[in-house]
Amino acid sequence: MAEHRVVCWDCGSNVEDPYVNTCPKCGGLLSVKMDLEPVKEMRPQDLRKEPIGVWRYAPFMPADPAQRVSIQEGGTPLYKTDRLAADVGIARLHVKFEGLNPTGSFKDRGMTIGVSHAKELGAKIVGCASTGNTSASLAAYAAKADMKCAVFLPSGKVAAGKLAQALFYGAKVLSVDGNFDDALNLAIKMADERKLYLLNSINPYRPEGQKSVLFEIIDQLDYEVPDRIILPVGNAGNISAVHKALQELEEVGWINKVPMLTGIQAEGAAPIAKAFRLESKDFVPEENPETVATAIRIGNPVSGRKALRAIYDTGGFSATVTDEEIISAQRLLGKTEGVCVEPASAASVAGLKKLLSLGIIERDEKVVCICTGNGLKDPDTIIKNSSSPIPCRNSVEDAERILSL
Ligand SMILES: *Cc1c(COP(=O)(O)O)cnc(C)c1O
Ligand SMILES: [Zn+2]
Repeated sequence: MAEHRVVCWDCGSNVEDPYVNTCPKCGGLLSVKMDLEPVKEMRPQDLRKEPIGVWRYAPFMPADPAQRVSIQEGGTPLYKTDRLAADVGIARLHVKFEGLNPTGSFKDRGMTIGVSHAKELGAKIVGCASTGNTSASLAAYAAKADMKCAVFLPSGKVAAGKLAQALFYGAKVLSVDGNFDDALNLAIKMADERKLYLLNSINPYRPEGQKSVLFEIIDQLDYEVPDRIILPVGNAGNISAVHKALQELEEVGWINKVPMLTGIQAEGAAPIAKAFRLESKDFVPEENPETVATAIRIGNPVSGRKALRAIYDTGGFSATVTDEEIISAQRLLGKTEGVCVEPASAASVAGLKKLLSLGIIERDEKVVCICTGNGLKDPDTIIKNSSSPIPCRNSVEDAERILSL
C-alpha cells in the first residue's frame, strides 16, 4: 500500500485517531498526505498495465489493492461530444459520463477506497447521510464487504431510483425529519459516539478515490491537459478531490499545467457561487436549499472551503444555473449525444452554456464537463418534463395518423 498519513488541512498537524472526522486540535478539515516519491520513478504508461478504473491509480491511493472491496468502479467513458459542442458553440468538448459506474454515480470511486479502508480498520457498521447517491453506493459496497450499513436520508426528498438502490442492497434506511444538512449532522453525531464508521466525504479516505476521475480524464486525453473542467458542486467533495489529484500529478511531474476548475451550483443552493462572487475564502451556509437537482441540494457544504481554494488556485470560476437551465441542458445532452444524466449532472452543461454566453468561457477552450450521475436515478423528473405517451389504437392507420402529427 502507498505510504500516507492523515493530516489537518487547516493547521497541518498529524491526526493519529482513525475514527475522527475533524482535527482534534483545531476542528479543521482532514486530508490524506500521500508519499508520492515512488511514483516519481514511474511514467504514466506504467499504470496502463492495469485496466482503466480507480485501482489503476493505486500508487496514488491510501488503500491496499490486494485487499480491495471493488465492484469495478471507474473506467467510465470520456465522450467527444461534437453535436453538443456545436449546439452550445464551442470547438472542443468532452463529457465524462460518471453515470456508468456500478451504482450509477461517481460516488463509487470514493466508496471503493473508503470501504476498503473501513474493512482494514475492522469496522462492523458503516454509515452515511445522503441526498441519495452516496447511500446507494455505500449500501452496495457494504453488501460486497459483508458489513452492516445505515443510511440517513432527508425524508421525502430522495429520487426514486436512489432510494430503491439503498433498500435493494440491504441497508437500514433512516428517513430523517429534516434536510440533508440535518441528516449529516445526525450521522456525524453517531460517528463521534463511535456507533458507526462514517463514509461521507468529510472522511478523508473517500475523496482519495474520487481523485481517480481526474486521473482518468488526463489518461484518456493522453496527458493533454484540457483548459477547463466543469462540474456540479454540492457538498464540494468532488471538486476538492479533483483539485488534489491535479496537485499530485504536478508533484510527480506528469503534468505542467492545470485546468481551470469551474464549479456550478443550482440557484437555490449556491453558497459556494455566492462566496466566489464576493471573492471570499469562506462561505455562508444556506438554511433552506431548494432545487430540482436533489444531489446538489446542500446548504452547508462540508468541503466548501476546499472547493473555494480549488477554484481560486486554478484560476477557475463558480456560477449558478436555474432549475429551468438544468432541465434544458439535461434534455440537450439526451437529444444531441444520447446521454441520459440526472439533473445535478446536467448543471455542468448548463453552466458551460451560461458561461459561454457571458463570455467567461472562450469558444476556443478545450473543455471537459463531468456528468456525475445516471438519469435513471430520477425517472420522475424526466417524465414530468417530457411529453406524455400518445394513446394509439391497435391499427396501422392510427399509428400513421399519430406519426404524421
Ligand atoms: C454527490 C453528487 C454531486 C455533488 O458532488 P459533491 O462532491 O457533493 O460536490 C453531484 N452530482 C451527483 C449525481 C452526485 O451524486
Ligand atoms: Zn487542525
